[in-house]
Amino acid sequence: MSHDTRKLKFKAETRKVLDIVINSLYSHPDVFLRELISNASDALDRLRFKMLTSPELDGDREFRIEVIPDVVNGTLTVRDNGIGMDGDEMTRELGTIAGSGTRNFLKKLQKAGEEGVPELIGQFGVGFYSGFMVADRIRVLSRPVGGDTGYVWESTGQDTFTLKEEKDLPEGTDVVLYLKGNMKEYLDPVRLAGIVRRYSDFISYPVYVKSGEDDKWKNEPVNSMKPIWTKPEEEVTDREYDEFYMRLSFDLQKPLSRLVFHGEGTTEFHALLYIPASRTVEMLLPDYKTGIRLFVRKVMIEEEADELLPRYLRFIRGVVESSDLPLNISRETLQENRIIRVIRNALTGKVISRLEEMLSNDRAKYEKFFDAFGELIKEGIYSDEKNRDRLADLLLVWTSRSGDGRKTLKEVVDGIPGESGRLYYVTGNDRKELASSPYIESAGSGREVILFDSPMDEFMLRVLGEYGGRKLVSLMKELGDEDLTEAEKAERKHAGETYAGLLEFMKDVLGERVEAVRFSPRLRDVPCILVNDRDDPGEMFRNVLKTLDHEVPKAKRILELNPAHPVLDRLQELYLEDRSGGELENRVMILFDLGTVMAGGRPENPSEFGKRVASLLS
Ligand code: ADP
Repeated sequence: MSHDTRKLKFKAETRKVLDIVINSLYSHPDVFLRELISNASDALDRLRFKMLTSPELDGDREFRIEVIPDVVNGTLTVRDNGIGMDGDEMTRELGTIAGSGTRNFLKKLQKAGEEGVPELIGQFGVGFYSGFMVADRIRVLSRPVGGDTGYVWESTGQDTFTLKEEKDLPEGTDVVLYLKGNMKEYLDPVRLAGIVRRYSDFISYPVYVKSGEDDKWKNEPVNSMKPIWTKPEEEVTDREYDEFYMRLSFDLQKPLSRLVFHGEGTTEFHALLYIPASRTVEMLLPDYKTGIRLFVRKVMIEEEADELLPRYLRFIRGVVESSDLPLNISRETLQENRIIRVIRNALTGKVISRLEEMLSNDRAKYEKFFDAFGELIKEGIYSDEKNRDRLADLLLVWTSRSGDGRKTLKEVVDGIPGESGRLYYVTGNDRKELASSPYIESAGSGREVILFDSPMDEFMLRVLGEYGGRKLVSLMKELGDEDLTEAEKAERKHAGETYAGLLEFMKDVLGERVEAVRFSPRLRDVPCILVNDRDDPGEMFRNVLKTLDHEVPKAKRILELNPAHPVLDRLQELYLEDRSGGELENRVMILFDLGTVMAGGRPENPSEFGKRVASLLS
């Protein structure tokens, strides 16, 4: 008998959810049942998980969920023999916003605004509280497994709830809904069974619906108990797959693509993976958790298993189930587990194949994917050596000639005549600015040059040295011998010897301003250009270092000269005839400033530069 009934207040946030649930016009009141069954199923999951480590709990248990309409009293009860709750848990879990689902709902609500409420409740259900859509009073009777006392929680969904102890309750939880006058349809067993089948079919415990006033039960559970991820794809509708995704991910959009996959052979597993249609900012953060749920023999082992996919695929959502894994596997050992590794490799390959298919069969869709997750593909190129080539095929890049569209690297390569040749690129923050970069001109007009405009590109380029047999070469960095053909190497060597004295002279005049003065056979039309040395991390990477408060290395500048330009002949003449008259020095300084301008900079001292050019003109 109750001797002590406590009256407690809901936490403010909970109040808010209750108000929303009670006062909003809802278009899907049915979902309350899905929410309560889902809680019951979680409670059974948790008990099953606990039993793995507490063998004393093992007894003769048939895990089950019961839906019990009571026409006489106008109540509907959802009963489970799961883990149960004690008084503290009830206060905490049912009196505050503890549930992840409900917390997510509130977050979404802030974004969607009040008009979005009915839709949101339809999709997410708001957990336990959605019971108040159909009931004006809810009683929860529960006894935790292994505990000796039960508790009764009760509320009308107003400001308070009451809690009292109650002896002689069975283990598990009863949620008793006192249905509102206009909600009596939820006493109809046929209607109830229909809702269970519609929303909760893949719950892995049997759900029984009591079929009438006289203690009659259907002997058969109304749900198939086959999890959606183990069903053959043709037995599940698109709509069911999409709904499953949306509930799993709390995404309001349908997924861009899904993968249903059954691994056979050395390792058996089922996977149902989704590629979302858009990304949240958080997904790009390195410590973002992946949303893959891992089940072992129907027991959920981890809700956010990030061992199942490489980090760069952290945007993928879904479920993986394998019966080959040990049930008592811990998070620490998941990492090193051989079976997990096998699954990870298989899943990675599948995801990449799916993206390859999308790229070749549905370019518009792929572009959408790349808009959302292209940066992570680049991260993959950087980090996944094994799949680097395949991931590089998946890149989309802007080029100096791609206009408003993007090209794959293969499309760029196919546009370059001949067998060999370099793939030139420039890097910067702004694609439009890059398109008019003088560096592009320096490679000769008409050349197709790739425009890399994100910080991730610089990381990627550290490991992506070539594509399709073509060297990827920055136009903003000095050209190394390894980037040149034999003929070009000979040309550079020859020019270096012919103009050895002049080069020496120039270096003396320029002093600290440059690291070296060198010939570059790739220059066309222009006499010279300033570039960075080969090891330069690039401007964007510098900015990243700056924001991380790292020491930023100063750029080493190199003045590259075009050996074929007539300016060189004139300088050589001056060098041979009158190197100490001041005129040569003057022109070397002009050349340096010109190189700076060609590199998009401004002359070191504009008024000096002006004077020098004026004297040259007169
Ligand atoms: P969520 O299901 O998203 O966690 P809910 O509001 O539905 O949020 O439930 C809040 C919490 O109450 C659950 O996380 C769980 O701890 C507890 N709970 C609800 N129903 C049950 C149940 N049938 N058995 C045991 N615990 C339950």
